[in-house]
Amino acid sequence: MRIDVLSLFPDFIDQATSVGVVGRARERGLLQVQAWNPRDYATDNYRRVDDRPFGGGPGMVMLPEPLGACLAAARAADPAPARVILLSPQGPRLTQAKVRELAAQPRLILLCGRYEGLDERFIEREVDEELSIGDYVLSGGELAAAVLVDAVGRLQEGALNDAASAEQDSFEDGLLDCPHYTRSEAWGTEGVPAVLLSGDHAAIARWRRRQSLGRTWLRRPDLLARTRLSPADRTLLAE
Ligand code: SAM
Repeated sequence: MRIDVLSLFPDFIDQATSVGVVGRARERGLLQVQAWNPRDYATDNYRRVDDRPFGGGPGMVMLPEPLGACLAAARAADPAPARVILLSPQGPRLTQAKVRELAAQPRLILLCGRYEGLDERFIEREVDEELSIGDYVLSGGELAAAVLVDAVGRLQEGALNDAASAEQDSFEDGLLDCPHYTRSEAWGTEGVPAVLLSGDHAAIARWRRRQSLGRTWLRRPDLLARTRLSPADRTLLAE
């Protein structure tokens, strides 16, 4: 998969996506990330990428011309069709289901706003969808783009050493993940739930499912309400 990111801070994008699982996916060629700076496509002597808003008021707005030229260059770098996504607090909130959908695309182009955002005409002409990472306002789209690249990148085939680990993560089946424990068996005065040391795989699976259901019920009842539970799940929840 290829992801191009248009940002006034391309070094940030490169560094933020060069570590851990996603960094390794890039090294192995499973994920290609390229950052593009709209400032490199500004045509005036000051390399301006923003200007004052028509109608007055505070803040600056990103100019459509450098953005348009930068986007055209990014598109031309690869023949695969790209979905163009603007990171924006005004988009629907990113979910794991959306991440899965995007991870299956051959190519994404992410746009990072700064200042008050992008000229609306550019958004209307070029953007396929807007996505938010939460109901708060960041100073720029770079962190949001890095979040998206990370979430999508770790789902590329071969990125995780054990693909099953992603399948048991929170949200994948609509529920939160169960708690995890590792050595030592006794950490200070605290032990590990006995069932996890029992070697009884059926009992362990049942315990984990019950923990997932219970945690989701306590912490995210909204998720539970949207999840289709099996009769066995209902029994576990009622226990
Ligand atoms: N004036 C805009 C508004 O109120 O909707 C906010 C602009 S914000 C200061 C600058 C840029 O940060 C946005 O264009 C967007 O790219 C990014 N951004 C801010 N909050 C975000 C969020 N919650 N999710 C995704 N991107 C965000």
